[in-house]
Amino acid sequence: MINLVLFGPPGAGKGTQSEKLIERFHLVHLSTGDILRSEVANRTPLGLEAKKLMDQGLLVPDEVVIGMIESKLDGNPAAKGFIFDGFPRTEAQARALDGLLSRKGTSITLMLALEVTDDELMSRLLKRGKESGRADDQDETVIRKRISEYASKTAPVRDYYAAQGKYTGVNGIGSIDSIFNELCGAVEASMAAR
Ligand code: AMP
Repeated sequence: MINLVLFGPPGAGKGTQSEKLIERFHLVHLSTGDILRSEVANRTPLGLEAKKLMDQGLLVPDEVVIGMIESKLDGNPAAKGFIFDGFPRTEAQARALDGLLSRKGTSITLMLALEVTDDELMSRLLKRGKESGRADDQDETVIRKRISEYASKTAPVRDYYAAQGKYTGVNGIGSIDSIFNELCGAVEASMAAR
């Protein structure tokens, strides 16, 4: 199995690159942001609770997102591998994910981190907000909160994977195809080294 963590701040291009990686490596896409937005759209109790936090740019509790990932892993027994997009976002989530994967006899292959400056993130997110209507991309204060949540709670997840020798950083500014080629090169090198 190939299991990739696609890592980076909001607006780094995780969603765009995930779509291309899924196609190339035949992976199942698990985005906690997408799952949460669908819960919000369906007005489920979980969605209604999560919306209050998402609207403020705050993280949803670890146990909620870990439970969502667990049920998606169990619901895809025939998958050739997974791409985790927007998850794990805390060290507790990363540890839980290692536990869930080891129960399935597998593990994370590689963490691919898209690196983008804060100024670039702000302009990309405001543009996405205008085009998509996504509420948390339309308000500068909420965007700043999301970037600061990333810096304080999520950036340490990089060290967690670096300690396992699984971290690869890629410059997230450039053309979609050149960034994709770099990501593919990293995945192929790690598959060849196995
Ligand atoms: P995203 O689409 O990944 O930027 O996520 C949108 C929002 O959903 C975030 O600002 C958080 O409020 C929430 N969220 C998504 N994934 C997670 C996660 N792994 N842990 C906690 N909150 C999350």
